Amino acid sequence: MLVLDGKKVRDEIAKTLRTKIEAFSSHPPHQHSRSWCGGKPKLVIVQVGDNEESATYIRQKKAFGETIGAVVEHQKLPGDVSEKDLLAVIAKLNADTSVHGIIVQIPIPKHLSENIVVDAIAPEKDVDGLGGVNVKRLWENKKSGFMPATTKGIMSLLSYYEIPVAGKHVVVVGRSLLVGKPTAMAFLNADATVTIAHRHTTNLSEITRSADILVVAAGKPHFIQRDDVREGQVIIDVGITAVTGEKLNEEITEWVIAGDVDFNDVKDIVGAISPVPGGVGPMTVASLFQNLVSAYEIQTKV
Ligand code: NAD
Repeated sequence: MLVLDGKKVRDEIAKTLRTKIEAFSSHPPHQHSRSWCGGKPKLVIVQVGDNEESATYIRQKKAFGETIGAVVEHQKLPGDVSEKDLLAVIAKLNADTSVHGIIVQIPIPKHLSENIVVDAIAPEKDVDGLGGVNVKRLWENKKSGFMPATTKGIMSLLSYYEIPVAGKHVVVVGRSLLVGKPTAMAFLNADATVTIAHRHTTNLSEITRSADILVVAAGKPHFIQRDDVREGQVIIDVGITAVTGEKLNEEITEWVIAGDVDFNDVKDIVGAISPVPGGVGPMTVASLFQNLVSAYEIQTKV
């Protein structure tokens, strides 16, 4: 069984991005461009309220950004900020030529419309790829769009391990705008035959077992077990849930991060699997910064 090591691939991506960013600052091709900012791609992460999980993800993004020499700015807004005020912050960042990428950390409080907010980000700065323009580009299989980071990370992980996708049956469990839907579309664009399963799917085990590549993004710790998989499958576990052992029927007392797949239960059956932690999570962060560097190149015409 092959473990798809997202940390190793992330570190290789980091090396490539660091070299690129060093070259931006030492060989500025358009120094007189209005968006010249010392050769450092800049990402602004807007956080609304105090979600603990979001704070963890933001810390990871800041740490990776530092490693590669990008600038990451964290703007915190109060949890009761009005939509109008949030949109004004985004408009200001859209107009700021020293900012190349903007993220509004999801989830945002319920009184705000996620669709309106992400659509307000200028498409060329929408490095999370969640705005309408980039979603349409993914549907149209146009390379000019930004692919959502988790989806891009999954595709890069498979490509690194030279796992073929064309002609394969891919089952994606989960249909969120953030993960399930864009991932299904990316596989379709890569010539796979795609099935999307979700919480109303009745014969889930039968469907998951029929996959050549099974992607699980349901947010249900360890819900894919040995009866749901078959020999030789490639398993991509996207799930990240903080749990204690009690929930997993294990004698773990402290909080741990669990994936959607019971790794130990399936590891002797499947052909390859991405672990949690250390699989898709690190790939997501690296892919976001690949998008940021592309955004920088587009905006400064490197
Ligand atoms: P979500 O809650 O928006 O969507 C979950 C999806 O799973 C829904 O479409 C739902 O229909 C489906 N689902 C739920 N229960 C199911 C069941 N019993 N059977 C079949 N389908 C079921 O979540 P999301 O934002 O898509 O995230 C999914 C998971 O991935 C979460 O654990 C999240 O933390 C994780 N995540 C990880 C990364 C990463 O970088 N690794 C990035 C984003 C999200």
